Amino acid sequence: MISFTLGKAQQAAREYAHSVAVEEMRPISLECDRTEKIPASFFWNMQRRFWGGAAAQARTQAQEEEEKQSNIFSLLSQEEMAWGDAALSTAIPGPGLAAPPILSQGTPEQQMRFLGPYMDGQLHWGALALTEPGTGSDVAGMSTTAVLDGDEWVLNGHKHYITNGARSDIVVTFATIDTSLGREGIRPFVVPKGTPGFIVGRIEEKMGLRASQTAELIFENCRIPKENLLSGRESSKKAGFKAAMGTLDATRPMVGSLAVGIARAAYETTREWVCEELPEGFAAYKRHVIEDELEELRQEIEMARFLVWRAAWMADRRIPNSKEASMSKAYAGGLVMKVTAAGVRITAPGENGERKQFLGKWFRDAKVFDIFEGTAQIQRLVIARRLFPEVDIP
Ligand SMILES: Cc1cc2nc3c(=O)[nH]c(=O)nc-3n(C[C@H](O)[C@H](O)[C@H](O)COP(=O)(O)OP(=O)(O)OC[C@H]3O[C@@H](n4cnc5c(N)ncnc54)[C@H](O)[C@@H]3O)c2cc1C
Repeated sequence: MISFTLGKAQQAAREYAHSVAVEEMRPISLECDRTEKIPASFFWNMQRRFWGGAAAQARTQAQEEEEKQSNIFSLLSQEEMAWGDAALSTAIPGPGLAAPPILSQGTPEQQMRFLGPYMDGQLHWGALALTEPGTGSDVAGMSTTAVLDGDEWVLNGHKHYITNGARSDIVVTFATIDTSLGREGIRPFVVPKGTPGFIVGRIEEKMGLRASQTAELIFENCRIPKENLLSGRESSKKAGFKAAMGTLDATRPMVGSLAVGIARAAYETTREWVCEELPEGFAAYKRHVIEDELEELRQEIEMARFLVWRAAWMADRRIPNSKEASMSKAYAGGLVMKVTAAGVRITAPGENGERKQFLGKWFRDAKVFDIFEGTAQIQRLVIARRLFPEVDIP
């Protein structure tokens, strides 16, 4: 069955997220980008809007109505949030990237223990730590170790580029229990903030998504309870690696939808500039060329959105979606760079007004969508492995 119509609850969630983007994000977006700081009032407003009693209840009811299509629900909101400001959207309080591995690999007791506190009305964040210096794309080559000592796991290693890593209450950290096992030795561990030996290092200064916090995390004889290993759902050796990859199958479409949101913002703003700010005397034939280009970009944004929706639709139905998730991420990640670059170029002749400032920011923000959650090259490898299973692609 194919349907391109959003349900009532889905439409309402999308409209709600758009209103948040308009009222809470756009007004502070340029300032947060410039200062790399987010006011505390933003965090509290987001906590209230998304986690407050009434909001959480409405969301649960809506999701039940729409048969728990949680991935589709999230990405409808993500696109709107990124239209508002992608950096601010990564900073909204909540378990964030820590949630997918806990939900897919945690026992019911672990889910309650680790995710329950997010409902207490306070500010909490979560993070996911896979990447290490020298081991980003090649997850199987990670060197952070976990050794069981009595009733505790002892973690040692170094992670970097971890979104919200410094402010998170829990960090789902991937480590190997035996480096000689390669990917089969990898396991996900939940490390609570404040655990001795869990050290927050450098906060990165970035070109784009500047208001999003990206941290280095160091583990030095960091002892966590035995019960913080997430592998309750599957006892096979591959469970840890599958958790890492399964997380990416769920989060890549989300990242794709953020890219679509920025691309849409850039397209709309460029179009408005052409309609309202084109300098006097601009040749009509040049305007037609620009209009043609904008129409093509609009079509490509719709195509990217459909790829993203399909991957999330499959995830909601537990249909294996690695290929589709990578396709959506690769296409949307490339497109957002193309649309924002076009916006900066087309508006170049104008004064440096607010529209141009936003386009410049989105151009810088766009680049990371070609990098995190797997670079474009890695997405193509994932796709190729599934398209040509008979070929041994490393
Ligand atoms: C703003 C930001 C936020 C991030 N947030 C998180 C986070 O929350 N958690 C987390 O764990 N990580 C996070 N990351 C890390 C991100 O996922 C990695 O940077 C990314 O996976 C690339 O890894 P790398 O930087 O080690 O580059 P490398 O893997 O070293 O890649 C370098 C280059 O080599 C290419 N390459 C590598 N292997 C191959 C191959 N087999 N074939 C062809 N080309 C290849 C890549 O495409 C790339 O061009 C974040 C990164 C950024 C920039």
